[in-house]
Amino acid sequence: MLGLMQDWPLLCHRVIDHAATYHGKREVISRSVEGPIHRTNYAEVRARSLKVAQRLDMMGMKLGDRIATLAWNTWRHLEAWYGILGIGAIYHTINPRLFPEQIAYIVNHAEDRMIFVDLTFLPLIEKMAAHFPTLEHVIVLTDAAHMPATTLKNAVPYEEWLAEADGDFAWKSFDENTAAGMCYTSGTTGNPKGVVYSHRSNVIHSLVANQPGMVGLSPSDVIMPVVPLFHANGWSLAFSAPMAGATLMMPGAKMDGASIYELLDTEKVTVTAAVPTVWLMLLQYLEQSGKTLPKLERVIIGGAACPRAMIKVFEEVYGVDVLHAWGMTEMSPLGTVCSLKPEYSGLKGDAKLDVLSKQGHPPFSVEMKITDDLGTELPWDGKTFGRLKVRGPAIAKAYFKGEGGEILDEDGFFDTGDVAHIDEFGYMQITDRAKDVIKSGGEWISTIDLENLAVGHPDVAEAAVIGVAHPKWDERPLLVIVAKEGRAPTKEEILGFMEGKVAKWWMPDEVVFVPEIPHTATGKIQKMTLRERFADFRFPE
Ligand code: ADP
Repeated sequence: MLGLMQDWPLLCHRVIDHAATYHGKREVISRSVEGPIHRTNYAEVRARSLKVAQRLDMMGMKLGDRIATLAWNTWRHLEAWYGILGIGAIYHTINPRLFPEQIAYIVNHAEDRMIFVDLTFLPLIEKMAAHFPTLEHVIVLTDAAHMPATTLKNAVPYEEWLAEADGDFAWKSFDENTAAGMCYTSGTTGNPKGVVYSHRSNVIHSLVANQPGMVGLSPSDVIMPVVPLFHANGWSLAFSAPMAGATLMMPGAKMDGASIYELLDTEKVTVTAAVPTVWLMLLQYLEQSGKTLPKLERVIIGGAACPRAMIKVFEEVYGVDVLHAWGMTEMSPLGTVCSLKPEYSGLKGDAKLDVLSKQGHPPFSVEMKITDDLGTELPWDGKTFGRLKVRGPAIAKAYFKGEGGEILDEDGFFDTGDVAHIDEFGYMQITDRAKDVIKSGGEWISTIDLENLAVGHPDVAEAAVIGVAHPKWDERPLLVIVAKEGRAPTKEEILGFMEGKVAKWWMPDEVVFVPEIPHTATGKIQKMTLRERFADFRFPE
C-alpha cells in the first residue's frame, strides 16, 4: 500500500517561492562588484529570477542544459541560480581561482552553453574565448552603464538582457531527481571531476542543514556566506537561507579583514560561514584595530581543519560560538557540524576546546563509518582512526560522465579520502587526508594535529606539516611555519611549545620558516606543492 500524501516534487525553485511568499520583505543585501551596497528582498529576487528563467527559455535553453556562472556572491548571482533552476537547466558554478587550463577543461567537460560572468572575470573569458567552443552566450552581471568595451561578440549586460523579459512566465515542473547543479572538485590529482546535485538532494540537504544543532538558520538571523557560491555548492546557503527566511548578506568580491568586518558590523550579521584562511584575515584585522564583534552570534568554519587557537579566540576573546563543520563537494557539502550535545554541553576551558576542535556529528541523512584498508569497520572509541566513508541522499554516487568509475563500496558508501576517528557520542574528528598522513615506522602521524598545535604558538600565523622521506622511518614530519608579521620565533621556541602536548615520536624532526604557504583554489594548504618544494629536503644527521 502506498501513502496517500500529495505529489509535491522537491524542486529548488520552490525554495525561492516560499521565501518570496512568507518572507518577501526580508532583505538580500550585497556588496556589488561595482562598489556600492545594493539592497533587495526575496520577493524581488524571485520576480527577477522568474525573468531570468523566461529569458533563458526565450534563448532556447532547456531542461538539462549546463549554464555556467563565474561570479562572486551577489543578488544577481542568486537570481541567475534560481532562474537556471526554474527551467530545469543546470547551474555550473566555476571557481575563478582555478588555473585557466582547468577552467577550460571543466567548461568543455560540462559542455556549458552559456555563462553568467562578473566584471572581475570578463578579461579571463576574453582571453580564453577560443578555448570555449560550446559557449554560445556571455551575460555580464552588470548594467549597460558599467559594461566595458569587450572583444566578445556574444557578450551582453545582464540588466538590459533581463529587461527583455516581461516576467509573465511560470517555472517549469519536472521530476525531483532532475539534475539541478554541478560543481567540480578541485582535483588535486588528475582532472577535476563533476559532482551533479539533483533538485531533491539540494532540498533535502538544505532541510537537514537548517536543523537546530546544525547550521540552524531562522528568520531572525542575518547570514553572511563569505564562502563563495562556487565553493562546494556554496555550502548550500543559497537554499538554506531563503528556506529559513533569513536575511542574506552577500559580501561580493572583497574578502579582506576590514571589508568583512565592515559588513559584519553595519549589517548586524548574526551568522557567517567561510574557510579558516578568511577568518585568519579577520582575526588579524581585529587584533590590529582593536575592534570587536558584539553582534555576531556564531561562525561556521569548515573546508579545512579549524585550528584550535582560532576557536579559542572566537569563543573566549570575542564571545562568538564556533561551529566547526566538515563536508565536501561530493556531500552537497555538509557532513558534520560540531555543536554541543548534552553529553558535552557542560564543558569549560580546554575540555570544551577539545570537543569544539572535532568536526562534529552528522545531521539526519548522513551515515558514517570508519574502516581499515580492507574495509573492516573500526570501533567508535575516539582514538582508532581509519578511512571515513559516508552514505546518504545528498551524497554523490558517481561523477559526471562516469569519470573515476565506481566510487561506492558494496554497501553503497563513498570513501571520502579522509582519515578520522569517531567517539562514543558520534563526534567525528579528521586526523588527515589519506594522502597527507605521515607513515613513520609503520605507524600514522596526523599532520592536522601537529598543525593545530603549532598555530597555537603566539608568533605563528600559519603552519603546515608534510612527510619527508627518511632512511630509517620511511617518512618523518617537517613543520613549515609562516611567522606573524613582525615576529621571528626560533625553531627551539616552536618545538619547546609543542613538547609534551603530543607523543614524542610525533614531534617534527625539523622546522623551516617560509614567507608564505601555498593554498588551493578553495583556501586549503596545498600539501602537494609543499611536498614538491621540499622533495630534496634532507633531515639533519
Ligand atoms: P575542494 O578541494 O574543491 O575544496 P572540497 O571542499 O570538497 O573540495 O574538499 C573536501 C575536503 O576538505 C574534505 O574531504 C576534507 O579533507 C577537507 N575538509 C573540509 N572540511 C574540513 C574540516 N572541518 N576539517 C578538516 N578537513 C576538512
